[in-house]
Amino acid sequence: MTAQLIDGKAVAARVRAEIKEEVARLKAERGITPGLAVVRVGEDPASKIYVTGKKKAAEEVGFNSWEHHPDETITQQELLALVHRLNEDPAVHGILVQLPLPKHIDADAIISAVKPEKDADGFHPMNAGNLLLGRPATRACTPYGVMRLLEEVGCNPAGKRAVVVGRSNIVGKPQALMLLQKDATVTVCHRKSDLPAEVAQADILVVAVGVPELVKGAWIKPGAVVIDVGMNRKADGKLVGDVEFAAAAERASFITPVPGGVGPMTIAMLMKNTLEAAQRAGK
Ligand code: NAP
Repeated sequence: MTAQLIDGKAVAARVRAEIKEEVARLKAERGITPGLAVVRVGEDPASKIYVTGKKKAAEEVGFNSWEHHPDETITQQELLALVHRLNEDPAVHGILVQLPLPKHIDADAIISAVKPEKDADGFHPMNAGNLLLGRPATRACTPYGVMRLLEEVGCNPAGKRAVVVGRSNIVGKPQALMLLQKDATVTVCHRKSDLPAEVAQADILVVAVGVPELVKGAWIKPGAVVIDVGMNRKADGKLVGDVEFAAAAERASFITPVPGGVGPMTIAMLMKNTLEAAQRAGK
């Protein structure tokens, strides 16, 4: 392997340590303790793991945190009422509604009901729109974490070719906008793209598709920085990314492992978004 590993766990720990310091300052100087409310509907096992991790991180950095855990039979109106209550609660600075929601709930309506200034996930249309317009916005946590990883390895996107594989609203699209904002020349790929040809152009490659090892190592431009957002559980229980790791690591200059790359950053940036919401609320 020639690539250097990007240690997302270590970077995330640094981000959390920075946040912890800021929380202590906010408490001491302005008497504000950031508060994160997490809403988890029903018993989705993956959601339970994610929410437990988020609550643990929130407590570790010194936030107040609350988990609201309604039964999966909750109605749209009841869930909207819960979001409205949290919107009006001055102790709550960040609200996160864990996805996926049960099928009878309109997830878009719930996300849109969260006050944009309390939108810890950065999924609200107002925040997505402000990102598009280049205005201050709460950023979607995963692509925001990827930007921090690039910074940590000294990769300045300006003037580079960045290729983002995947165009979801929570990863691919905001990732492309954040890279564009940093003056990369950005290509966004999807199912109709000629992936081997596009990937071969990338100085910076971010892959978020949800297909195990879709991107082959042989496609990677020598020296590229490769960020693998994918998290796929194989039949044997092993977690793999969307990039064929061993072969890609032979060509890349830097690469994120799965697990231990992007994953820990997502939670750290959620804490950062909540801290920033508390800092704004206190002004
Ligand atoms: P998503 O909403 O399912 O979007 C997947 C995207 O990949 C779509 O744009 C789709 O293209 C594209 N795609 C799927 N198959 C493809 C193929 N064969 N060739 C080219 N493009 C293809 O997924 P997501 O929510 O962005 O998540 C993507 C992955 O990241 C998943 O593995 C997820 O678990 C992981 N993830 C990790 C974190 C983390 O914290 N590490 C956070 C979020 C997501 P079309 O638009 O054409 O359908």
